Amino acid sequence: MKISGLVDLQVNGFAGIDFNSPTLQTEEVEEVCRLLYAEGVVAFLPTLVTNDFDMIESLIQTILAAHHAAGATILGFHLEGPFISPAPGARGAHNPQWICAPNINWIRRLQHSFPNKIKLLTLAPEWNNTTTFVKELCDIGIRVAIGHTMATQEEITLATNAGASLSTHLGNGIPEQLPRHPNPIWAQLAENRLWVSLIGDGFHLSRDIFQTILNIKHEKAFLVSDSTMFAGMKPGRYQSLIGGDVILTADAKLVMAENEKLMAGSAMSLRKIIESLVQNGWLNFENAWELGSIRPWRYLGENGSPELVEVAAQKV
Ligand SMILES: [Zn+2]
Repeated sequence: MKISGLVDLQVNGFAGIDFNSPTLQTEEVEEVCRLLYAEGVVAFLPTLVTNDFDMIESLIQTILAAHHAAGATILGFHLEGPFISPAPGARGAHNPQWICAPNINWIRRLQHSFPNKIKLLTLAPEWNNTTTFVKELCDIGIRVAIGHTMATQEEITLATNAGASLSTHLGNGIPEQLPRHPNPIWAQLAENRLWVSLIGDGFHLSRDIFQTILNIKHEKAFLVSDSTMFAGMKPGRYQSLIGGDVILTADAKLVMAENEKLMAGSAMSLRKIIESLVQNGWLNFENAWELGSIRPWRYLGENGSPELVEVAAQKV
């Protein structure tokens, strides 16, 4: 039977191809478009993490050259950083060397050079003058997400008042140990205007917090894969561009070699995440699929529904 295809708003790479690699080739991006489509993904946002401004610009150029590729459609870009928290734990696997304060001139230049291709930007609202920055981003058509942050409740409220609309992978990109309350997770859960993206691979979030977030956010929750190039690769120890040494386990868990409690991104496609949610009994197929297709599509404000894909009837 045919159902709306998957829409992944956070894809760092897939099948050995890393969108953040300085040697990235347009043909490799085309290959990812084909491979993701085969997994049921009809549209996605290649995601560029904290990096040198010039490098990000050059990667956008390389990726955009593939925008006519057959397969999954590149809707635009998700910039995750470089305006995130430098605090250990909050920055996750991002390279602290390139983390910096918000820079509107650079963003304006990007949005001008690549017209309206920056769709989403994840930042930490504790930087100075974030309110003005968020307003300006919204004015030029960029959706603003809060993530990799240690912001206070007040800073989260101010950013949301200014137009921030999403919490990026809530429950991740945050230190392992936090004050029980207040902390940035509660502050974002309490803010009803914020949508939330979740990595539902069974490793990034425990079942209780995953379910709690869904219970609170209802229609404003969706799944992202946050897939790295390791999604679809064999288990082993690898060198990651953003995380240094990483370990990919047999059950597709990707962790930092220096501290295996720290995740280094996901190693599952959105399709695999949905299958794992269903297999683990966290959600039924219909609900899990909706969280990966219609919901992110609605969040982006796209018209209509995602392109239809064929899915075996027994799965539904
Ligand atoms: Zn992240």
